[in-house]
This record gives sequence, structure tokens and C-alpha cells, in this order.
Amino acid sequence: MKPIFLDKWSKLALYQEKLSDGSVRCLLCPHNCLLGVEKQGICKVRANFQGQLYTTVFGNPCTLNIDPIEKKPLFHFLPSTEIYSIATVGCNLHCSNCQNAAISQSASQDLFHYNLMPKELIQQVLNHKVPSIAFTYTEPTVFYEYMYEAAVLAHQHNLKTVMVSNGFINQKPLLDLCPYLDAANIDLKCFDDLVYRQLTGGRLQPVLDTLKTLKAEGVWLEITNLLVPTYSDIPQMIWKMCQWLVDNGFGNTPIHFTRFYPSHKLYYLKPTTEEIMLQAKVIAENAGMKYVYIGNFPLLASENTYCTTCKRMLVERNGYIVQNEFVINGKCPFCNDEIEGVWA
Ligand code: SF4
Repeated sequence: MKPIFLDKWSKLALYQEKLSDGSVRCLLCPHNCLLGVEKQGICKVRANFQGQLYTTVFGNPCTLNIDPIEKKPLFHFLPSTEIYSIATVGCNLHCSNCQNAAISQSASQDLFHYNLMPKELIQQVLNHKVPSIAFTYTEPTVFYEYMYEAAVLAHQHNLKTVMVSNGFINQKPLLDLCPYLDAANIDLKCFDDLVYRQLTGGRLQPVLDTLKTLKAEGVWLEITNLLVPTYSDIPQMIWKMCQWLVDNGFGNTPIHFTRFYPSHKLYYLKPTTEEIMLQAKVIAENAGMKYVYIGNFPLLASENTYCTTCKRMLVERNGYIVQNEFVINGKCPFCNDEIEGVWA
């Protein structure tokens, strides 16, 4: 392992417990890593330096982009707007299918990064005249301090904030962040704890707890479920997941089934079949999910939003492009039914 690299931007981490032998426990995510002196956590971006825990990515994004918000994916949150999107290196999970492994599985000392403090970052967002900022691409939990300060500043400037996350975060930091978070897309990777451990190195229950907390705290929520062949594309598992979602009050929460393409350690698997993608949609709708989308599979044309009462099309999408939108003040203009989301 390379030596711990602290530079002038490294910042004392929140949520830590110092122990008398010089080790420190990180309390940010459910791994609760115990770090000996000069050691890094599982995420490779939090380190014990002289008996204190530091984040080594504060103000150090490795990726800055402006994306359509549909790319997050968020379909019921400020549709057809652009969103300033940032990431630092690092992730607390190690998914075999990761599509961003080059940055998510790197340590802070391994890759080029910008030096952009929260104040400068938010100024950049304002300069680009976009209404929102997303913490995305890798895992924002592991750059929590940077995300938190940026989110607080963003709200002071009337910008909306979005977290795209694996949901593997402890309750206390999540609750502290929620007042400064407007929307989240949580990647619910499967609905089997053993598969969760094998595929990602994480666990299922903390992610379910995150979903409940975000909903209870009034953060607009959408869920992504990537259908990885032989891991998470099992119809019974999809049915169980959707039943849990409906039983726990997530029937109105949009769910995005996305297609797997060979990547990272699962390069040898085939893409998810069209049959399974369509089957997942039917299963979810039969379970009571109201807004079910299929992503990464343009030919299936399952990206439009329909009114669940009168069945008229309300948002017509083609990939990330919104071609038509008819929702008015959060309501269907044809039958006046409320359409869940943040529309203006
Ligand atoms: S955030 Fe990183 S260091 Fe902290 S518990 Fe999670 S993996 Fe470990």
C-alpha cells in the first residue's frame, strides 16, 4: 500500500471515534472501519494520521461535468434541466460490475484531481446558470464532508442538491445531511443479503434503512436497480424487492431497471436480456409500483411517464432528452390527478 498522503487540503473527518492505542474508528458508513495508525479505510480516501481520521479528498474532485438530470437518473425531479455533477475518487463498496472502477476504486493519491473548495465549486455552479448540483459517479458518502459543506452553501444560493448513492451510509450522518438534500437516487443493487455481500462487499439492510430515512425526511427519492445476469435478474428476487417497496410506502417512488453491460470483473457476462428487462417491469407494476422505467435499453422505449389515473402520456423521453412535458403544477392536465415529484 502507498504511504498515507495528507496535503494542505486534507481535513479532519466527521464521525470518528479515537481510541487510546492510536487507532480510530470511522462511523460514517456501516463498515465502521477500525484504522490503525497510518492506515486507510476500505474506501481508500479516509486515513488515520497521528491518531485522527482525515478525509483526503476534501475539495479534490476528479470529475466535473454538466449532465442532463435524466442521466442521474431522476425522471420526476426538475425534468429537462441540466445539473452540475461532481465526484472525488473512492467508494465504500467494491461492486464486481462497477462501471466507474477507474475512479471509484482508486485512492486519493493515485489520480489527478482539481483543487476546488466548496465556495469555489458553488460559484462555478452559479456561473454555469444551472439550477442544481449532483454528488455522483463514485460514492458521495466517502466524500461526505465536501458534499455536506457544498450542499449547505448550495442551499444558501437557492440551488437544489442531489445525491446519487449506493445508500450504504450510517443513519446519523445521513440524518444530518437530509436538511440540505433535495433529491436522491439510491442504487438498490439486489434484494438478497448474501448476493449483496458477494457482488458489492456491502449489506442489504443499511440500504433499506437509507431509503426509509430519505423518505421520512422528505427528500425526493428515485431508485435504480441494475439487473445483473445471474446475480440480480432473478424474477423471484425482483418480486420480493417490489413487494417490500410497496409494503413500506414506496409504491409512488419511481424505479429504474437498468440494463447491465459487461464491465470490470464481470466482463464475461452477457448484457441483460430484453425478456428479463420487460419481465421486471411487469413484475414491478403487478406488485403495485406506479412509475416503472427501463434504462440503458432505448429500443424498449420505456422511459415515458404516464398518468396512473387516466393513462395519458405526461412526459415523453428519448434517452436523456425530454421531447414533451405536459405536467402542470405537479398535476396531470387531462384529469387533474397529482403526479409525484418536483416539477418546477
Ligand atoms: S467511509 Fe470509508 S473509512 Fe469510513 S467506515 Fe466507510 S469504508 Fe471505512
